[in-house]
Amino acid sequence: MEVAKRIHLIKCPWLKYFVSSIAILDDAITLVDVGASDSPRTAIYPYLKEIGREPSEISHIILTHAHLDHCGGVAQIKKETGCKVYVHKSGKPYVEDADLINKELHERFPSICPREKPGFESFKADVIFEDGDILELDGRRIHILHTPGHSPDSSCLLDEETGVCIAGDSVQGRGEGRPLLFYSSKEYAESMRRLLQEPVKVLITGHPFPPFNEAVLRGEQVVKHINESLKGIKELKSQVWEILKEAEKPLSIKQIHEKAVASRAVTIGCILEDLEKEGKVKRERSNGIYKWSVKR
Ligand SMILES: [Zn+2]
Repeated sequence: MEVAKRIHLIKCPWLKYFVSSIAILDDAITLVDVGASDSPRTAIYPYLKEIGREPSEISHIILTHAHLDHCGGVAQIKKETGCKVYVHKSGKPYVEDADLINKELHERFPSICPREKPGFESFKADVIFEDGDILELDGRRIHILHTPGHSPDSSCLLDEETGVCIAGDSVQGRGEGRPLLFYSSKEYAESMRRLLQEPVKVLITGHPFPPFNEAVLRGEQVVKHINESLKGIKELKSQVWEILKEAEKPLSIKQIHEKAVASRAVTIGCILEDLEKEGKVKRERSNGIYKWSVKR
């Protein structure tokens, strides 16, 4: 579907909903995120052909972050078109070694993140970007906003002309299972506050997140969605803090997760790491499992 002038959303099938791939159709084609490994074949190529363009016209891929459901299609498209791939500097190690993310998560949270095999094929990052960069592609100016929290490299791409902001998983909304964070609740909240200051007219998210359950948000919905995201993480963080304060003995992530309504275990882990950095909680290791308690 066309979201704004020459900017199209391609819904790539993913789990029970979809992951967004965005096609910017100038003289050449720029894709922002390319779904999972099968997305070029099942969604992206068919969409481009349907609107009269050819996959061979893809010249650039820009990634919002290095997660398998956003960068899984890169290796194939790169091989077939020779396109250049743009990645945030913190994402470079993760795309060039697809195993790294699982390795690190297992080391940080051994009890909840089993050592899984890579979910995509590694590839080389051709161009590295960072916060404040402006990518000039086919006369279009795309501003890079580094918005970490969901992952260390999460970035939003703001198109100067249309005010379209492509957010990937940077803004997670609020509701069942959200936010899903793999990096930092503190930086996530800071990223939401920062995004509220940006001139965003249309927000395209990586999935149809609650409460709107749409991947394209316009006008007032944009600020509402970012505010809901901020409220969501604040509420969850204080919930984790209350659970720990009331606990009589140290708790594992799983035990806290069972008590925290509609949350995700890995998000709880990120919150605990932040509370530990703030000097509020401590962890101890027993039988290979970390247990957490308030520092008194
Ligand atoms: Zn993600």
